[in-house]
Amino acid sequence: MCKEMGCYKSIDSVKETIRTMAMDAGFSRVRILAPFMLSETVRGLVQRRALEDRWGEGSPSLLVAALPYGNEDATAAAGRASAEQAVEENCRAYIAPFARRNYYKEAIKRLQKLSQTFRRFCIGINAGGIHADRRSSYRIFCNSPIPEKPLALACGLGSQGRNSLVITPEAGSLVIIAAMTLPFPLESDAPESTRSLCVGCGFCAEACPTKAIRREGGIERNKCIQWYASGNEASVPRHIAEQWGRRLYGCTICQDVCPHNKRPVRGAETSEGSLPAYVDARKILAMSDEEIKTFFKGTAMGLSWLKPEHIRRSAGLALAWR
Ligand code: SF4
Ligand code: SF4
Repeated sequence: MCKEMGCYKSIDSVKETIRTMAMDAGFSRVRILAPFMLSETVRGLVQRRALEDRWGEGSPSLLVAALPYGNEDATAAAGRASAEQAVEENCRAYIAPFARRNYYKEAIKRLQKLSQTFRRFCIGINAGGIHADRRSSYRIFCNSPIPEKPLALACGLGSQGRNSLVITPEAGSLVIIAAMTLPFPLESDAPESTRSLCVGCGFCAEACPTKAIRREGGIERNKCIQWYASGNEASVPRHIAEQWGRRLYGCTICQDVCPHNKRPVRGAETSEGSLPAYVDARKILAMSDEEIKTFFKGTAMGLSWLKPEHIRRSAGLALAWR
């Protein structure tokens, strides 16, 4: 195949080299998925969403990767303390660690760089429907309408926790998931389902302040704080508002208590979309739509579906909380 990538004898060695290159790029876990490995239901869901992106055409495999955002180390904790001091106590609105950097953008950047390497190595490999040197052969999905979770589960990137998050062996659920199409036909990695990483301890369900986690697993969205913080629903029911706390964005309680996230997990280094741990809720409330958009532009909260009115709504709930 791509001779320049190291004189491969088998497709397996291509796969392992791609995996190693992606791990070297800072991803904590990398798996390969042949789309036909997806169950019919999941494939239908993914393909319906993917049609507009023309995913599938000339993309016999997908690279699915986890980028860790980790848990707080001493430097991050010091940053949090100083952000805390900078805002008057009664007006503090908290931003969760996963949203304090734009890890989605960082993952896309890293995958783009990888794709450039693959293309460089594969110049001239345009046979049998493989267009290995074309930019369009490497389409990246991250925080996109294509749901990454079914892809992650189908190739063993992790297994689903009772709190519905994907738990990875290396970094627990403290990861964001990204995928990139590959023009090479590679053998799919096996799903993790034989040994679920979720130990069923129930700590997440016990700790959830709104009791949103079902006994049998999964989340009742309309009870989940993060669902509302992400801009869903026209209003926040009173019993959810009462548990809101000082959050502007990001409820992580069900992750914080999970045994898989208790060990130190180093987050990928990035300065993309940096946000402080605390902002002043009064200032957010006083901002115009344009000012809110400008403030959060390029950050993990600058998403098109998270409107200024949603951010203001969260700020109001944080400010009202006692
Ligand atoms: S994000 Fe928060 S509210 Fe939602 S399930 Fe987890 S702990 Fe419960
Ligand atoms: S806290 Fe326990 S039950 Fe919940 S996801 Fe983690 S391992 Fe599973």
